[in-house]
Amino acid sequence: MTLRLHVDGPRWRRHLRRVADARPGLVPVAKGNGYGFTVANLARRAAWLGSDLVAVGTYAEAVEVGRRFDGDILVLEPWRPFRAVTPSRRLVHTVSRPADLADLTAAAEDAPRVVLEGLTSMRRHGMPVGELRAALGAARGVRVEGVALHLPLGDGHVDEIDAWIDQVPHDRWFVSHATESELAALRARRPEVSIRPRVGTDLWLGDRGALAARAVVTDVHPVERGDRVGYRQRRVRGSGHLLVVSGGTAHGIGLEAPTPAATTRQRAVSLAKGGLDATGRALSPFVVAGKQRWFVEPPHMQISMVFLPAGTPPPAIGDEVDVRVRFTTTLFDEVLIS
Ligand SMILES: *Cc1c(COP(=O)(O)O)cnc(C)c1O
Repeated sequence: MTLRLHVDGPRWRRHLRRVADARPGLVPVAKGNGYGFTVANLARRAAWLGSDLVAVGTYAEAVEVGRRFDGDILVLEPWRPFRAVTPSRRLVHTVSRPADLADLTAAAEDAPRVVLEGLTSMRRHGMPVGELRAALGAARGVRVEGVALHLPLGDGHVDEIDAWIDQVPHDRWFVSHATESELAALRARRPEVSIRPRVGTDLWLGDRGALAARAVVTDVHPVERGDRVGYRQRRVRGSGHLLVVSGGTAHGIGLEAPTPAATTRQRAVSLAKGGLDATGRALSPFVVAGKQRWFVEPPHMQISMVFLPAGTPPPAIGDEVDVRVRFTTTLFDEVLIS
């Protein structure tokens, strides 16, 4: 029972190179489920790209990446005093509070490497401008590798980043979610400053055509309208076939992240794509003969049961079907890179 991510290797690698060339100083981000590829795969790929620095989400991921990548590792979660960290010269800590800077310096044997994070319009972590300036000025016994800004999605990055550079005297910056043209605009405005983009989604998932999620069909049964099936013994709504396909809750199937839809129309679309119909049936992400098919009941741990109406020839056991999933919420059993 296998849910697979198929990667057109040559096409994907071409895309990675193109993004790295277009965004000088690129810091690949390898975190979470590794954007579907696993963090281990991304660590090796960053080495292949020739990166000197990889960003990870957590200290646990830093250990995982460190085994497969020789360069430096920037940890995106801010350091906190309750965090037990094995010292390493390859680690670059993110510090988002003045008190943490003092505590980290006191706890470390030799000067820890840090980036200081600014509190942007995102309001996740970081110090406001005045606090960050003071922390930079007072920093002793640490090696400041740069200032980090985590920005919201969308436009307006150039002005926000530029305002920070204006107010905080430092020549090395790390930013996220700035597009190629925004980065170019910033470089033109601030040629004396190094601005390194941290990129995950646009890098790993930027060429969707190189990626295909597919599930193996593990069983096929003819059914008649009214037959009871599954854990919940629901009646099927018509004649046709019951397909058992790989991919269940353990893979994140049927567990959609909350929709970012902001307008009523977007919400309606997202409901129609992933949601329930009026009678409580849920549309599955499994595509058979060009259409997403209905679940006959909620997904199981590792497989799902879906209904294929009469008139559509069923796939054979062992065939693969396409799955429409978000890569950042899916755990694949296998990642096959050609
Ligand atoms: C995840 C993350 C990134 C990368 O975000 P993408 O949208 O995947 O490019 C950059 N910076 C920080 C702080 C992050 O947490």
